[in-house]
Amino acid sequence: MSVLDQFVLDDKTAIVTGGSRGIGRALAEALAEAGADVCVANRNGDEARAAAEEIAETTGVETTGVSADVGTEDDVERLVEETVDQLGGIDVLVNNAGIARTAPAYEMSLETWNEVLRTNLTGVFLCTKHAGGWMVANGGGTIINMASMSAFVANYPQEEVVYHASKGGVVSFTRQLASEWAEHGVRANALAPGYIRTEMIDELLAENPEMEAAWLSEMLMEQMAPPEDLGGTVVYLASDASSYMTGETIVIDGGYTVR
Ligand code: NDP
Repeated sequence: MSVLDQFVLDDKTAIVTGGSRGIGRALAEALAEAGADVCVANRNGDEARAAAEEIAETTGVETTGVSADVGTEDDVERLVEETVDQLGGIDVLVNNAGIARTAPAYEMSLETWNEVLRTNLTGVFLCTKHAGGWMVANGGGTIINMASMSAFVANYPQEEVVYHASKGGVVSFTRQLASEWAEHGVRANALAPGYIRTEMIDELLAENPEMEAAWLSEMLMEQMAPPEDLGGTVVYLASDASSYMTGETIVIDGGYTVR
């Protein structure tokens, strides 16, 4: 097998949560370009189905779009059932869905705290339980969790302790899951991006435009990346190219955390 053959995902099926836009959309496209059939899952079902159709048209793989809230267990169980029914199985789970909320901790409502943890951490657990559980029962697979460089460094100047708590949790969850599920043939790794230009970032900058200069001043690359810059890494983590890697987190941040 040539080295490039190791990256091919023909005959694989992937679920990408939050795959309708932003980073998730780029990851879903990358997996499809590598040959995987893809289920796009997010709360807005029309957007999920539209993204799935567009990906099928441009890549020729089978796709489906499912409306599912990753924090609702019934939705996640239905997501798994529909993916298996329509695409035949699950080999790759990308737990990408996530939200960010800013507020100083002394002003943050318990509602906001719970909202972020429910999506960013409970959602990772529920999708892992059901889609990863399907893998355990069916010979294995690979899980890719979306962490953030925020798991490793403080962000500035925005105040967002709950986001950092959630992403630190994702890194730790990933390491422990890898340890527990290696015997089931399931690998688990995480991606930890720096600033990627998406709606999430646009919303933060709309509140406080001067943050951008502060962010750029810390990046060796001096620019935010487009979501497509993460595509190669997700294909690597989903494929046999990373078959000896589990429990790790790959930081892709334009050099933000280097110094
Ligand atoms: P976007 O806001 O652009 O997209 C978020 C996606 O998640 C949408 O498809 C949204 O669809 C979906 N989503 C949100 N909540 C839920 C939910 N409860 N259930 C199912 N789907 C949901 O965000 P990004 O693309 O920027 O971020 C994607 C991931 O990458 C997040 O986990 C984020 O924390 C992480 N990340 C982002 C960075 C960045 O700089 N952009 C940096 C590091 C990490 P819908 O609203 O229809 O549900």
